[in-house]
Amino acid sequence: MTALRLYNTMSSQVEEFHPLTGDEVRMYACGPTVYDYGHIGNFRTFIAVDLLQRYLRQSGYRVGYVMNITDVDDKIIRNAARAGVGVQQYTAKYEKAFLEDSATINIQQPKLVRATEHIPEMAEFVARLVEKGIAYRTEDGSYYFRIAKFPEYGKLSKKDFSGMLDGARVDVDEYDKDSARDFALWKAPKPGEAFWETSIGPGRPGWHLECSVMSMEELGESFDLHAGGEDLVFPHHENEIAQSESLTGKPFAHFWFHARFLLVEGEKMSKSLGNFFTLRDLVLKGHKPSSIRYLLTSVPYRHQLNFTFDGLKQAAVSVERLRNFRQRLTAGSFTDGSNPGMQTLASETIDRMRAALDDDLNTAQAQAAIFEMARKGNAAIDAGEIKRDDVAPLQAALARFDEIFSVLNDDDGAKMKQVSDWATAEGRGEEISPELRAALQSGELSDSDIEKKLAEMDAARKGRKFDVSDALRAELTAAGILVENTKDGVRWKRK
Ligand code: AMP
Ligand code: ZN
Repeated sequence: MTALRLYNTMSSQVEEFHPLTGDEVRMYACGPTVYDYGHIGNFRTFIAVDLLQRYLRQSGYRVGYVMNITDVDDKIIRNAARAGVGVQQYTAKYEKAFLEDSATINIQQPKLVRATEHIPEMAEFVARLVEKGIAYRTEDGSYYFRIAKFPEYGKLSKKDFSGMLDGARVDVDEYDKDSARDFALWKAPKPGEAFWETSIGPGRPGWHLECSVMSMEELGESFDLHAGGEDLVFPHHENEIAQSESLTGKPFAHFWFHARFLLVEGEKMSKSLGNFFTLRDLVLKGHKPSSIRYLLTSVPYRHQLNFTFDGLKQAAVSVERLRNFRQRLTAGSFTDGSNPGMQTLASETIDRMRAALDDDLNTAQAQAAIFEMARKGNAAIDAGEIKRDDVAPLQAALARFDEIFSVLNDDDGAKMKQVSDWATAEGRGEEISPELRAALQSGELSDSDIEKKLAEMDAARKGRKFDVSDALRAELTAAGILVENTKDGVRWKRK
């Protein structure tokens, strides 16, 4: 079993990660508030958690991974009212988009739980807090958490609230960094707002309550890890801890995992600066999902990632290089035998990747290790130093890398087509860039792509790998390329 070391926001230290029970990890991530399309900052965090759960699985743990969908909150109610539709109709569209986007960048889907499907349990939770004298009801029928009843309030964010004002209240879901006030657990209905009839009266849950109730229901009163972006430390996670621990008297989550906020071209992403991008925006501009995923994983989660378009181009080149190396291994012809140097290279690469990821998920180092393998491997192929028995171990190292990073499968074209179809269906066809249109129309194959595939076909035939050469020929035919064998060699033309 691994010696994964992770930074724990609660202890402010890198600690060895061990689950509370055996080899089973129970983890929860705060998911999207589905009031708009997800932006690349959101996906930076979701990919960081995806990577963590993939690595835990690769390390031999069984992972129970739950994510909530916040489908009712202040922003949703405001936006739905503005759009003149009901809350559910409004959120359904963005929840669907979130799932589609997650699939586009190969996020493995967690178990999803929706706030609106757990309203009675949330009301029940509030009732129990009231019974314990921790929550109180105000005249309008809202309920607040009395933070004076939880002396440890502030222990996650390391804020000192000792001089706080007992009874001062705040009823919005997100508030000031230093607000030491009783926060809303349950909000009484306001005119024109969605509400539910429950055992504690009509109303709707506050955002913080949702996560306490759903995480404990799915994972138990104490579980292993709770994740989100760094902005959630306060007030959201602080409030989750206060609600949960004051009710159960037990520690809530053992590890607190927070991803650092991403910058775009050196600045905080914002609509007014024009540097605000959803995942779809980038694909519609013609960028490959694999490049985006690669870039978003290239900086360890606790470091600030500065997203730039130069970086995105670089990421595309990096992915291409790894795919090419893999292709050379698949299609090349190698002489019998093995080269111990290559076998060592493969096993050392696996060890280096593991050591890097064990070190608080140092993704940059893990990527560096696989690159070095590709560089040495390419040089060895050029020099005829790779033997037939070396291929499988090198492929295995690439596969191990890809279990975590998930960028080597060349399905970008199909995904980009899908994103462009969605945009068209939504009447946003004008957002499809000329670059994306050109890429989709050409079937993606440039002359040099074709030459490369022909060379691979040739190598495969020489290596008597006829299934590989046939597959390559079929790929070319499907892309509208006619391949002819003449006495002067292979010729091709576009149909
Ligand atoms: P939201 O949909 O706003 O509730 O956010 C969903 C997730 O994305 C939360 O974990 C946030 O902390 C995270 N998030 C939001 N903006 C950024 C950003 N710029 N960089 C990284 N994570 C972010
Ligand atoms: Zn949450």
